[in-house]
Amino acid sequence: MILGIESSCDDSALALFDPVTGGKGHWMSSQVALHEQYGGVVPDLASREHLANLPAMLRLLQEPLGGASPDTIFYTAGPGLAPCLAMGKTLAQALASCWECPAYGVNHLRAHAYSPFGDFFQDSPGDFSTRVEKLLPHLGLLASGGNTLLYEITAIGTIKILAETRDDAAGEAIDKGAKLLGLPYPGGPHIERLAENGDSAYHQFPIGQNRQQDMFFSFSGLKTSLRYYLETQPEETVRQNLSHLCASYQEAVVQGLALRIKQAIRRNRGFQSLGLCGGVAQNRRLRKVMADIAENASLPFLVARKEYCGDNAAMIAFAGLLERAALHENAPVRPSLSLTEQSLPKGHR
Ligand code: AMP
Ligand code: MG
Repeated sequence: MILGIESSCDDSALALFDPVTGGKGHWMSSQVALHEQYGGVVPDLASREHLANLPAMLRLLQEPLGGASPDTIFYTAGPGLAPCLAMGKTLAQALASCWECPAYGVNHLRAHAYSPFGDFFQDSPGDFSTRVEKLLPHLGLLASGGNTLLYEITAIGTIKILAETRDDAAGEAIDKGAKLLGLPYPGGPHIERLAENGDSAYHQFPIGQNRQQDMFFSFSGLKTSLRYYLETQPEETVRQNLSHLCASYQEAVVQGLALRIKQAIRRNRGFQSLGLCGGVAQNRRLRKVMADIAENASLPFLVARKEYCGDNAAMIAFAGLLERAALHENAPVRPSLSLTEQSLPKGHR
């Protein structure tokens, strides 16, 4: 049995994963209520919460473990908030020494990238490799609060970045836009809920058109354009048209993402599947638009289940399992805290 530990930001999470039969359960303690009052995550408070929550959550493992102890631990090594990552790593190392088993660091972004494949393993672990091989090379979009990455998986363990954001991440743009519109943190679910009854054609926000050949995302102009637009509008008008503004803003983020995906598919006709993961992948409009892009390109569309879109420990355990061979064979690799590298770094020991 594998234990997964995730503590990169404001979610304390544990998961148990059986390499033969799949997931045995995952548990999460969210800190949203704590950070909401500050309008964003406060790293020092988040790490203190992890310190309190993670050890308390260990009790939840007792029943599924039935007296046995895990034989491998995978924890999030980075990227993430340093004091939060330290809590997960410290717990992993303490448990590893107590259970006399190895603990390996896993790259959080690589774990997100594998999450759309999780259901294949859960359905039929024996066929997993054969099924996945038919879906490679895979074009994936990771859209979360801290990252926006378009990447290619050519083999399990080989992930290459095709495009990243020059400024804000998609989730960050949504959260900042929501804040300007007076909505609570994190703004994504609020924007989506209000957008359901809104007209996305109400106002045309910029979608970061890119005339250059190189691929990148850019969302800071969108947020700024919302700010300038709101300055010209009476408060009452904004209040009355809030759902239209949410729909228009959400559409600009979604179309900004869609533009690059279509560009990547036009450039490389060899992709065998399209995938979506990360917290923003919970957004129904984004799921729909990407499903349509996949259908038009005759590609299977894989999207992480909603419970595996945000930060969770099941994806850490799963990624660790998939990359375990590489982790054992390779010399330790430091997880990258920057996104300027052209390939997503593997985990480290
Ligand atoms: P993560 O960084 O993976 O934990 O994801 C958190 C980000 O996902 C935040 O920026 C949220 O606002 C965003 N998010 C969560 N749910 C939704 C949603 N339904 N629509 C759009 N964004 C969302
Ligand atoms: Mg994440």
